Amino acid sequence: MENNEHLRWMRAAMDMAEEALGAGEVPVGCVFVRDGRIIAQARNRTNELRNATRHAELEAIDCILADKALTAEPSNSPLSTTTLYVTVEPCIMCASALRQMEIKEVFYGCGNDRFGGCGSVLGVNEQVAHPVHPPYKAAGGFCREDAIMILRRFYITENTNAPVPRSKANRVLKTDINPLSSVET
Ligand SMILES: [Zn+2]
Repeated sequence: MENNEHLRWMRAAMDMAEEALGAGEVPVGCVFVRDGRIIAQARNRTNELRNATRHAELEAIDCILADKALTAEPSNSPLSTTTLYVTVEPCIMCASALRQMEIKEVFYGCGNDRFGGCGSVLGVNEQVAHPVHPPYKAAGGFCREDAIMILRRFYITENTNAPVPRSKANRVLKTDINPLSSVET
């Protein structure tokens, strides 16, 4: 696939991350693409719903499974022809869910050193053995700097929903991007 096409879908995912930022959520967005079109798009809703499982990926999966036009009947591999574009490496929870759904492949923006389930913390996508579901490919680095900057924009303002709010004192928005770093706050 042309790199341009990856960027096109990743920009759509970034639009969802912007929506999350506007709603006071950790700015992560995603789109699911099948047959050359977006079939679902979502963003983090964990604060709004007070539910830590409401990550962008799981929000979108719920929509796809609930839509008879997209998921005609129950299947062990409902996403086998579907590709995910997400602004941040899926966390361990989402990476596992994506494997249960047999996602075709995943492209993400920046890595996730704290929770990443596609290699940063744990390779749930392909390094961990699974008795039923095959591994899937995950590749990062698409719109990576944009994905990092929007997270910084979020974390520089105090997250009032966090259990222990962190001080804003002396915080400035860094704009330099270390080539080796992933999610930096
Ligand atoms: Zn997740």
